Amino acid sequence: MSTRATCAMYPGSFDPITHGHQDIIARAAQLFEQLIVAVVTNPNKKPTLPVAKRIELIEASVAHLPNVSVKPFDGLTIEFAKASGAQVLVRGLRAVSDFEYEFKMSQMNKSLDGTIETIFMMAGLEYQFLSSSVVKEVARYGGSIEKAVTPEVADALKAHYAMAGTLP
Ligand code: ADP
Repeated sequence: MSTRATCAMYPGSFDPITHGHQDIIARAAQLFEQLIVAVVTNPNKKPTLPVAKRIELIEASVAHLPNVSVKPFDGLTIEFAKASGAQVLVRGLRAVSDFEYEFKMSQMNKSLDGTIETIFMMAGLEYQFLSSSVVKEVARYGGSIEKAVTPEVADALKAHYAMAGTLP
C-alpha cells in the first residue's frame, strides 16, 4: 500500500481565521492534493463566533484555492481525519508560544493512531505574533484589525461586538 499522503487536514477553531491561518492554508494546499480545513464546532473554549459564521469566513478566504475544503467537526481530531481519509495533520507553529501544546497534542494523536502523521509549518515571519485572541481583543475595543484579517472577518467581529457589547 502506498504511504504517500495526498490528503491533509488542518484542524483548529479558527475563531476567527486570520492571515496567519490563511498563510498556512495556502502553503499546505501546495503540498497536498487535497486540504481539509476542519473547524471544531464545540471546543471547551466557548467560541466567539458560531461555527457557521467561522466556516463562511474561511470559505470566503479560500475560494481561490480549488483543492481546499472546509468542514465542521466535533470530537477527536484524529477520528475525523481517519473518517475523512486524511493521512496528515497540519499545524502551524509560532515562535515559542505553540511548541509545548503542539508537541503534547501530536504525541497524543500519534498514540491514538500511529498511521496519521502531524506536520508543523512555521508561521510566516509577519504572522508570528498574530492570534485570533489578540485580534478579538483589539476588535472588542474598536481598534483596527484590518492588517490581520480579511475585511469580511473584520466586519463580522465588529458586528459581534456591536451586538454583544463587551461579551467574549
Ligand atoms: P486551536 O484552537 O486548535 O489552537 P487555532 O484556530 O487557534 O486552533 O489554530 C489552529 C492552528 O493554526 C494551530 O496549529 C495554531 O498554532 C496555528 N496558528 C494560529 N495562528 C497562527 C499564525 N498567526 N500563524 C501560523 N499558524 C497559526
